Amino acid sequence: MSKLVHQGHLARKRFGQNFLHDDNIIDSIVSAIHPLPDQAIVEIGPGLGALTEPVAERIDRMTVIELDRDLAARLATHPFLQSKLTILQQDAMTVDFAAMSQQLGQPLRVFGNLPYNISTPLMFHLFSYTQAIRDMHFMLQKEVVNRLVAGPDSKAYGRLSVMAQYYCQIIPVLEVPPTSFRPAPKVDSAVVRLVPYAELPYPVSDLGVLARITSQAFNQRRKTVRNSLGNLFTVEQLKDLGIDPIMRAENISVAQYCHLANWLAEHPSQQD
Ligand code: SAM
Repeated sequence: MSKLVHQGHLARKRFGQNFLHDDNIIDSIVSAIHPLPDQAIVEIGPGLGALTEPVAERIDRMTVIELDRDLAARLATHPFLQSKLTILQQDAMTVDFAAMSQQLGQPLRVFGNLPYNISTPLMFHLFSYTQAIRDMHFMLQKEVVNRLVAGPDSKAYGRLSVMAQYYCQIIPVLEVPPTSFRPAPKVDSAVVRLVPYAELPYPVSDLGVLARITSQAFNQRRKTVRNSLGNLFTVEQLKDLGIDPIMRAENISVAQYCHLANWLAEHPSQQD
């Protein structure tokens, strides 16, 4: 049988389909999620149900979001799952998680072995709903988990690190080798837990400004900030804000980026 066929389903590359089949890893992930009855449990990309089945064994109801029509149809007729699932056959990037949380009457617990091709934009989409989310557990490329948890002065530290750490406490849970999937991905994977802060440690008044500063700085990460942010801050202003102008994007902490963003939001004439 082709390596691309798993449980009679031909894996679709464009949907990032790598199905988990390692029972030990599946057990560890479900234990890490620790789903309880009466919680608002939401899975992104249930696929053939490798995680959905053991999670559903512990609870009565859950919501799943699956883009692949064939897989959504399989779940809808699954003998054990069908009565427990609310199935949204939809792109998770278009889901309004705030409305879902409101409907379910509590903050969401979101998890998924995410399609790697859209995992970063999907996390940014979810960050805009952190007030409606209690926690998230995701399988990602290990390299993406490294970027999520990276601190300043490291190569992995980038815009994703700053934005993720702005919203969430981030805890790596376990590493997963390619052999745990069918078909096996070319990269190592890891599971991470993201817990949105009830109170943001460094709140910014205008997130668009933070997004702009971090994009501009990290898009030119080899340049010193006096150059990469030169159209937004003078050297004197950077110094006054506690930033050495010869630092590079990767030397600036999350707190410092937030400080820069709040200052700039208060001085809109500085923004060209
Ligand atoms: N949860 C299953 C497992 O662990 O074996 C499947 C994981 S597979 C890596 C990713 C799943 O996400 C696939 O079922 C795929 O069809 C689905 N998917 C891909 N893009 C999606 C999207 N934009 N929205 C929702 N689901 C998506």
